[in-house]
Amino acid sequence: FESKRVAGRHFLQIPGPSTVPDRILRAIDNPTMDHRGPDFGLLGKQVLAKIQTIFKTAQPVVIFPASGTGAWEAALCNTLSPGDRVLMCETGWFAHLWQEMAGRLGIVTDLVKTDWRRGADVEQIAERLAADRAHAIKAVAVVHNETSTGATSRIAEVRRAIDDAKHPALLLVDTISGLASVDYRHDEWGVDVTVSGSQKGLMLPPGLSFNAVSQKALKASEGAKLPRSFWDWKPMIAANATGYFPYTPATNLLYGLDTACDMLLEEGLDNVFARHERHAEATRRAVRHWGMEVQCQDPRHYSPVLTCVRLPEGHSANALRATILERFNMSLGNGLGQLNDRAFRIGHLGDFGDLQLMGTLSGVEMGLRAAGVPHSPGGAQAALDYLSGNA
Ligand code: PLP
Repeated sequence: FESKRVAGRHFLQIPGPSTVPDRILRAIDNPTMDHRGPDFGLLGKQVLAKIQTIFKTAQPVVIFPASGTGAWEAALCNTLSPGDRVLMCETGWFAHLWQEMAGRLGIVTDLVKTDWRRGADVEQIAERLAADRAHAIKAVAVVHNETSTGATSRIAEVRRAIDDAKHPALLLVDTISGLASVDYRHDEWGVDVTVSGSQKGLMLPPGLSFNAVSQKALKASEGAKLPRSFWDWKPMIAANATGYFPYTPATNLLYGLDTACDMLLEEGLDNVFARHERHAEATRRAVRHWGMEVQCQDPRHYSPVLTCVRLPEGHSANALRATILERFNMSLGNGLGQLNDRAFRIGHLGDFGDLQLMGTLSGVEMGLRAAGVPHSPGGAQAALDYLSGNA
């Protein structure tokens, strides 16, 4: 008798959406309220203040009822005009998609390439800016945590490169998969627009996205000529002053966001970041023990959010993921773009503890065996040893 059902709770170990904790699900479960009624303004104000602490900013954070892609578009169309030049860093698939979007919007993009095995190349950024004496480059765009490769770029260094070149370009940063998992400082790092989303470190379902906006970006928006309506910051920020939104917000996701911020602040952001670092290190130890390569080759750029694992030549990462899903009821991230079928991604982000990590790594190790991928058994044990020695 063949069963279609695999017992046990599904392990959603893609690098976002991450598993939504029950406390957040219960918050979202509350009755939808009148978003123009008297109670909503209180909720709105409270959530808008809490989310500023997560971005480490005193500037406005605009919340869109959209996935991260929408907030990408908002960052571009609020600050730039057709034909403007933007320096973009091709760290992987998501940086590539953002660049494609910019092109479709009529922005001219200059690319700083990488081999997809590290974060943004700060030296190259510095050189390009130094060479741009006419200040034709209007913005530098970087993906903070490149979800396709597991590389985290060093945003403070990018800021320093812009400042050292005395270049007036805006700094636009995508931390869709970094926020609330890796340290992020919108104000201190002088980021002009930070883009993020709800479904990763914030532990929410997909459906909310964010732009944290600097005063310099607000000023740029006054002269920016790209067409915008839904994404326009101005009516949002005006309505947000009293806790309201110019169009219907995703009310129930805002209940969830309020609870998510409480959970993060109760744990303490520094503890949240340390937990992600520790799980990432344990995961890399497992991968190395199996005899496989971590996609990111620069230890300074290792992502605390996810680990992208390269399969030995001649073995299919997609077949491995299919085996693991079928046998162990666990979803792993696929290889994106040039990494399709060459690599898979283990998400270790969000509401995630040692036992979830050990379940995940055990599932991968059993999957390697079941799919006949050559490996040295004991990677999960290596992770366990690390976790036990670094409680
Ligand atoms: N940027 C990064 C770094 C991402 O990880 C993602 C999604 O995974 C996106 C952008 C696109 O966001 P969304 O799929 O929510 O539109």
